[in-house]
Amino acid sequence: MATVLIIGAGGVGRVVAHKCVMNEHVFTKIVLASRRIKSCQTIQAELPLGKVQVAQVDADITDDVSALIKEVGADIVINVALPYQDLTIMDACIATKTMYLDTANYEHPDEAKFEYKEQWARHDAFKEADVMSLLGSGFDPGVTNVFCAYAQKHYFDEIDTIDIMDCNDGNHGYPFATNFNPEINLREVSADGRFWEEGRWFKTKPMEVKMDWDYPEIGIRTSYLLHHEEMESLVKHIKGLKQIRFFMTFGDSYLEHMRSLQNVGMLGIKPVMHKGQEIIPMEFLKTLLPDPSTLGKRTKGKTNIGIVVRGTKDGVRKRIYIYQVSDHEKCYKEVKSQAVSYTTGVPAMIGAKLMLEGKWDAKGVYNMEEFDPDPFMEELNRQGLPWQVKEMDA
Ligand code: NDP
Repeated sequence: MATVLIIGAGGVGRVVAHKCVMNEHVFTKIVLASRRIKSCQTIQAELPLGKVQVAQVDADITDDVSALIKEVGADIVINVALPYQDLTIMDACIATKTMYLDTANYEHPDEAKFEYKEQWARHDAFKEADVMSLLGSGFDPGVTNVFCAYAQKHYFDEIDTIDIMDCNDGNHGYPFATNFNPEINLREVSADGRFWEEGRWFKTKPMEVKMDWDYPEIGIRTSYLLHHEEMESLVKHIKGLKQIRFFMTFGDSYLEHMRSLQNVGMLGIKPVMHKGQEIIPMEFLKTLLPDPSTLGKRTKGKTNIGIVVRGTKDGVRKRIYIYQVSDHEKCYKEVKSQAVSYTTGVPAMIGAKLMLEGKWDAKGVYNMEEFDPDPFMEELNRQGLPWQVKEMDA
């Protein structure tokens, strides 16, 4: 018997709500809350009557989140609002001694920089509150971290290098749109690239480093080196690691649009004056772009996200590729969301399920790779995200 409070009724929140309902033996009471009640009601109406309760909350206000947690009697909060709300929701969980889970690390709204520092700083507070906080339980971060822990546990004595390979080959028919929150997506993609080697971080210009990679069930796609948040925790937790990089595919049309928008200042996050009124270019752009939640029914094609790991086992060099392929149309048929939201929302539900079942149990703030990967990997196969392991030439 457990009550889950899902905060954020966007693309990912929809998948989490659907998947919690499908696992109602664990999530016996499900409450979906968001800034606008309407967003919650739309999702509630897609599910059988009485399965999901809805509430309005401004998650920027810690006291309001605490009051809602108490009112509904939440055992766990799944935070799938925006990364800007991570700290306020974490603080409400500390105050009410409630378990916490999110899918993206904290970002300050006025600075395009994401890092774990402020969330990790809450470790002792969660420990004192005697509850667990699980960071980054989406796909990447999330499943990619679990894949790394699985490779470490079952395939290697020592891991040397990890490349995280992320391909979304979906086509929604628009010349330019983002598959999840445009602000978060464009901030990530237009930032400098970063990779880690021999104990140091190296910076690259946006899209400066690229390679062609053959994604199973998709084909060869040009993949660009980006900075991505899971690398920050993996360099701490994968022992002996010498290099980690993250690559993501982008179509030519997406890149051309993004460069043009950046060149004219439309990706700016600082206010500018327009006809006597302050506007933030990125926020204005967001109002012009298609709402990601409307892309689901138009999107065709597949995603393939995985990790390529090199290292040694019993003195022998080896390389493996662990990956997961999802089909946009199949995801939409199941939960009315495309694969990007699906591959994020399913792992969020699984993380919460393992916490409530006590299979992942610790007090304090933790990242995914710190736990036994096996129960999570089993759940991925059961809950709609089957994965593959491919042995490759070392
Ligand atoms: P959306 O923009 O679709 O949804 C975000 C939701 O959060 C909206 O419904 C919005 O509410 C709600 N929200 C925003 N501000 C507040 C607030 N102050 N109080 C309460 N609710 C608020 O985003 P996504 O669903 O695409 O993404 C959700 C999260 O998942 C993001 O943090 C994103 O970074 C992360 N993500 C993680 C991935 C991974 O693999 N780890 C991949 C993709 C996304 P309303 O509609 O009510 O106005």
